[in-house]
Amino acid sequence: MDAPVMTSKKPRADAPKDAKIKKVGIIGAGQMGNGIAHVVALAGYDVVINDLKKEAVEKALVTIDKNMARQVAKGTIREADKGPALKRISYAPDFAALGDCDLVIEAATEDETVKRRIFVDLCPKLKKGALLASNTSSISITRLASTTDRAEDFIGMHFMNPVPLMELVELIRGIATEDETFATARTFVDSLGKKTAVSEDFPAFIVNRILLPMINEAVYTLYEGVGTVEAIDKAMKLGAHHPMGPLELADFIGLDTCLSVMQVLYEGLSDSKYRPCPLLVKYVEAGWLGRKTQRGFYDYRGEKPVPTR
Ligand code: NAD
Repeated sequence: MDAPVMTSKKPRADAPKDAKIKKVGIIGAGQMGNGIAHVVALAGYDVVINDLKKEAVEKALVTIDKNMARQVAKGTIREADKGPALKRISYAPDFAALGDCDLVIEAATEDETVKRRIFVDLCPKLKKGALLASNTSSISITRLASTTDRAEDFIGMHFMNPVPLMELVELIRGIATEDETFATARTFVDSLGKKTAVSEDFPAFIVNRILLPMINEAVYTLYEGVGTVEAIDKAMKLGAHHPMGPLELADFIGLDTCLSVMQVLYEGLSDSKYRPCPLLVKYVEAGWLGRKTQRGFYDYRGEKPVPTR
């Protein structure tokens, strides 16, 4: 999650790779799944991508093509690398199509029930020794790993949004994650041209433990009438040098994801300081999830985003 700033690094197609990983499966073709597929394919791996909805994968492929074209125009990747990378990505209609993957990265909706179901259905289809990673923003890696048949081969691999631009990937070991799994995951992330920060397995890890309460507080600031949407975003951009205002950033992340992370913090740490703002709950209940549904704290349906409050 996280602001679309920072320098973009070249994926290192020639970077040293762990021989164990050649083919990577991705579950969930939303904004994170498409970003992960983008960088993994550019780094030279074969990618298969699955989603509940075939249209989500079709949309993801269009987005990847467009984003790679933008990188070519900026000179951050070579035109000659774009076509082969796109060709390396294919659609997995079901979990059986992930059966020959060496690593599967789950990037589906931030909902523990959804993720648990995925792992239960996926594991019988995986080959022996395949590694499993979750891109969850907040949910316990130990708990997710316990739903699989390979807790020792399971790891948290938390990419930041937008994946092609952001430099960091948090790595989170579950209680049973083996050192070899951790080492393979670190080499894999290095080969994507990303840096790693290691977090212990506590609710929302490092980045979102700090970032999401700030966003939630911005929503409270709006809820209590301290400032308007515009004033809050302007204040944090100009006053704290944040590249995006917190409400703009919340829309970018997805308000459903923001709410889920706050719920995980609230329940996981049993501390009222993480109470999700009722206004955030209301937006999610309205289906106003931010950019992905074209409405959140801003309305994106016109030429320019317009504050909704
Ligand atoms: P999204 O809403 O854009 O996409 C989620 C996708 O998962 C959808 O296309 C949905 O159809 C699919 N999906 C849901 N259930 C599925 C299932 N059973 N099988 C296959 N596909 C399924 O969400 P996102 O922003 O891409 O987030 C995905 C994950 O990445 C979440 O765990 C989120 O917390 C995490 N994450 C999000 C951000 C962010 O800024 N949005 C940043 C880092 C990590």
